[in-house]
Amino acid sequence: MKDGLVVVAGGGGFIGGHLVASLRRQGYTRIRSVDVKAMDDWYQVFPDVDSQRLDLRRREDCERAVAGAREVYNLAADMGGMGFIENNKALCMLSVLINTHLLMASREARVEKFFFSSSACVYAEDKQRTTDLDLGLREEDAYPAMPEDGYGWEKLFSERMCRHFREDFGMHTRMARYHNIYGPHGTWDGGREKAPAAICRKVIQAKRSGKLETEIWGDGEQTRSFTYIDDCLEGTQRMMHGDVTEALNVGSDQMVSINELVDIVEKIAGVKLRRRYDLGAPKGVRGRNSNNERIQQLLGWAPSIRLEDGMEKTYAWIHDEIAKGARSKAY
Ligand code: NAD
Repeated sequence: MKDGLVVVAGGGGFIGGHLVASLRRQGYTRIRSVDVKAMDDWYQVFPDVDSQRLDLRRREDCERAVAGAREVYNLAADMGGMGFIENNKALCMLSVLINTHLLMASREARVEKFFFSSSACVYAEDKQRTTDLDLGLREEDAYPAMPEDGYGWEKLFSERMCRHFREDFGMHTRMARYHNIYGPHGTWDGGREKAPAAICRKVIQAKRSGKLETEIWGDGEQTRSFTYIDDCLEGTQRMMHGDVTEALNVGSDQMVSINELVDIVEKIAGVKLRRRYDLGAPKGVRGRNSNNERIQQLLGWAPSIRLEDGMEKTYAWIHDEIAKGARSKAY
């Protein structure tokens, strides 16, 4: 099974790079990694992986990308944290071309399994208006649909496209709704970074400069759950190789406020910062958490890595990047 060609679309990015690394570790011998970014900007590149620079919005490039593939993981999208997706709705929606053309090309190439990385941003806005989402969002809370404008609509539409390619054309499609994935080898600066990496960077910079203050978007009481990359990879591959065809949450259910996330990073860094709240900054929904009953029931597994442990590894990596004067490698 491990000698068939596996294609990772978006392999130059954060999750795609980790997935390629994980597939190699598991003994997959034929891996093709595809991304639109210049190779210097890929987070992880491996000499024994067929790495190709292609623009997957284009149908012809998708055909080249999936030629001969047994499995395709679509992790390519034009995306970023809340600051990016609130201000680039059209760009986010154009990722529909990537998934559509990849599906069409994969069908023609008789790909056996196709994975799509969806998002918690598909959930309906009115289910996320309060901070006390202890029970989390259940898969059925995506409908009636009113997802995050731009980015969330694209994800929900692409989920349905995967579903109908399965129902109408018999393709084996799989979909996971990721909840805030974080970890080393991801974007930490430049405008596309997400809260965990942005907070690590701000705390590290405050500590290095001796100016012990930081800015927080919103009032810091908005709640989220954050999923460490290793749990994301495990969930992704369990879904790809299992027989669950509906979209499932792949997300931690350890809900924290943004203020609590800052507390965790301050503790790791050994500092206390004065907090300035920017109430006009993009802040997204008021509360969000993953409900893991369905994934537990269907796969007998759910994410379990503690935020404190994952953040420690993420902080250490970003700290080293900043210390060596590296720049963040976003698209
Ligand atoms: P990322 O930005 O690090 O990776 C995405 C990659 O896709 C980038 O390297 C980018 O260059 C590439 N890409 C963009 N347009 C492309 C194109 N036209 N052709 C080829 N490649 C292209 O993001 P990530 O965090 O690794 O996310 C991977 C997937 O998971 C995305 O679909 C994202 O929407 C989804 N997701 C991520 C999170 C998260 O918290 N990171 C949460 C929910 C869903």
